[in-house]
Amino acid sequence: MLRFIDGHHDTLLELNDGSDAFFTGLPSAHLDFTRGKKAGFAAGFFAVFAPNPISDPDPGIVHTEAGYMKSLPPILSREYALAATTRSMARFFQLEELSKGTFKTIRTIADLKKAVDGDWMGGILHMEGAEALDNDLDLLYVFYKAGLRSIGPVWSRSNQFGEGVPYGYPSSPDTGPGLTPEGKELVRKCSELGIMVDLSHLNERGFWDVAAISDKPLVATHANVHRICPVSRNLTDPQIDKIGQSAGLIGITYSIDPNMVTPSAEGDPGASLEDIADHIDYVRNRIGVDHVALGSDFDGTMVPDAMKDVTGVPMLLSVLEQRGWKKSELEKLTYKNWIRVLEQTWKE
Ligand SMILES: [Zn+2]
Repeated sequence: MLRFIDGHHDTLLELNDGSDAFFTGLPSAHLDFTRGKKAGFAAGFFAVFAPNPISDPDPGIVHTEAGYMKSLPPILSREYALAATTRSMARFFQLEELSKGTFKTIRTIADLKKAVDGDWMGGILHMEGAEALDNDLDLLYVFYKAGLRSIGPVWSRSNQFGEGVPYGYPSSPDTGPGLTPEGKELVRKCSELGIMVDLSHLNERGFWDVAAISDKPLVATHANVHRICPVSRNLTDPQIDKIGQSAGLIGITYSIDPNMVTPSAEGDPGASLEDIADHIDYVRNRIGVDHVALGSDFDGTMVPDAMKDVTGVPMLLSVLEQRGWKKSELEKLTYKNWIRVLEQTWKE
């Protein structure tokens, strides 16, 4: 069975303090240890994310004849974001302790390779939206020392580092201003420390700001093809080309809420694995097999019934095999591309 590295999931949101449910079974989630192992989940980016507070006003959605446009949610207070972030990080680091040696935090390329070899399941700590950080970036350094290896400066929300892309269909990702001076400094500091910067959820100007500053391969951990599904969260052809030119990587997501898979505005639970494979093939055909990977967004969204949960991934790989993908190409998609990009990004 092919073992894979997943570019993004939100399963940490499903976990409670000290609970070993990840190992004993999380039936309400897309991913837990047992199903992950069965499906070939070798390692993944575990997202730390601060959800919008329920007390905040709903950002609102405007329906149009062709689709919809959502407003950006209010900016989080730093206090709230920091509390949510440290809570989620604690759940992440507890996994290793609760696992009795079957799960480890990945801090180095050697760790990542061991996870792929099957020694244990591996977790890469990712921060989705950086509003918990101070402007001096002292906390970034502390989190890096703890094990943070990947960061998305913004979620689809504004913060001190930039403005995220609101969800809209049909909509270009060019929806507002890019990174703030603090955001540009964050990208520079990440390059220096060897933290991967995730382009997902940035608007188009933010994307080009990162591209101009970063000397690392450009990575969107969970985003699809705008030409197939014109939602603002998906990548336009010039963006896809730029990622290819940087020797970077796009993790294809299975998200149907918001729908990023089929051409329509509304997500379709009946969408097929073929529909997901179309995005993978589009990126491969446009910029090459070295620049496409998997980025599920499990537990951060709904996925098609045909995918169901992490156990659907081997079936997606079978679809690609039926389309003529060679084993060597599938190995690049599932883990070799991630290893290459992280080797060029991380310090160790
Ligand atoms: Zn996301």
